[in-house]
Amino acid sequence: MIIIMKPNASQEAIDRVTQVIQDNDLQVHLSRGHEVTIIGVVGDKTRLKGKNLEIADGVDKIVAVTESYKLANKKFHPEQSVIQVGNTSIGPGSLTIMAGPCAVESREQMMETAFAVKKAGASFLRGGAYKPRTSPYSFQGLEETGLQYMKEAREATGLNVICEVTSEHAIERAVRYVDMLQIGARNMQNFELLKEAGKSGLPVLLKRGLSATIDEWLNAAEYIMSEGNEHVVLCERGIRTYETSTRNTLDISAVPVLRSRTHLPVILDPSHATGVRAYVAPLAKAAIAAGADGLMIEVHPDPAHALSDGPQSLTFDQFEDLTAQLRPYSSLAGRSFS
Ligand code: PEP
Ligand code: MN
Repeated sequence: MIIIMKPNASQEAIDRVTQVIQDNDLQVHLSRGHEVTIIGVVGDKTRLKGKNLEIADGVDKIVAVTESYKLANKKFHPEQSVIQVGNTSIGPGSLTIMAGPCAVESREQMMETAFAVKKAGASFLRGGAYKPRTSPYSFQGLEETGLQYMKEAREATGLNVICEVTSEHAIERAVRYVDMLQIGARNMQNFELLKEAGKSGLPVLLKRGLSATIDEWLNAAEYIMSEGNEHVVLCERGIRTYETSTRNTLDISAVPVLRSRTHLPVILDPSHATGVRAYVAPLAKAAIAAGADGLMIEVHPDPAHALSDGPQSLTFDQFEDLTAQLRPYSSLAGRSFS
């Protein structure tokens, strides 16, 4: 449930309500807006029965939160969150571009790509050092060596770097090298991994599961947040449908739906959503029009020889052309590249 305080509620009144909640072994989540303060309560709310909080000094009303996700819920935090990663703010007013190869393949590849995507306007270099491949015989990633290359590229360019983690071991390694962790579609409901990511102290990009509903996705975000890490960004990357013309089906409606349910930023990944290079640009534009806070795009120096996801990867020139095309869309949406 949430307790909405009156606009003029005093600090003492807020403290008194907070104390009653904590005295009953429930967690308090305070959201101070411009006008009102909202006190979110996490835990078994029946413990507050008979405490008469609805008539406590400064309380306007009490609203039940029926959804099972609380910390991720917009009711708990009506203003959109801004997730700060280095000097990049992911959220309203910004269009954050994360770009890079599917997999980290070599030091040269990461360096070249980092300079190219930075020049074109990206603020994040992406790359997988731990690859969750469909076949165990496909390239599985360079692991810690790959993380090292990412860190070197970060030092050379000042870009933030983001890498997918697939195990607790990968998280332990990644926190030494990267600025943000990525939980991939295949692990969206790996609850132990989500909890570890929550404990890592790094911001987390949580991709939507292959066949996950928005509700399941928000509950997955809640797993991370319930460990004390509220720095979560959601990434729509297409879902499984009966359509085979594209690798997945981009659920563009996820953007406004999430906007109505959560305060967390939302970015879109048109590369994994379609699997086809030529479809990336139109969907990137649609993402901005729908209100996305950013994009994740695969870029490779030589897509024809990429170790994974070559068909959907853009060349450096194609990526530069894409960001040039996106700039007017971005400013129309009131967002600047970040
Ligand atoms: C990726 O971003 O490299 C990736 C594997 O994406 P997804 O988890 O969305 O399939
Ligand atoms: Mn990929």
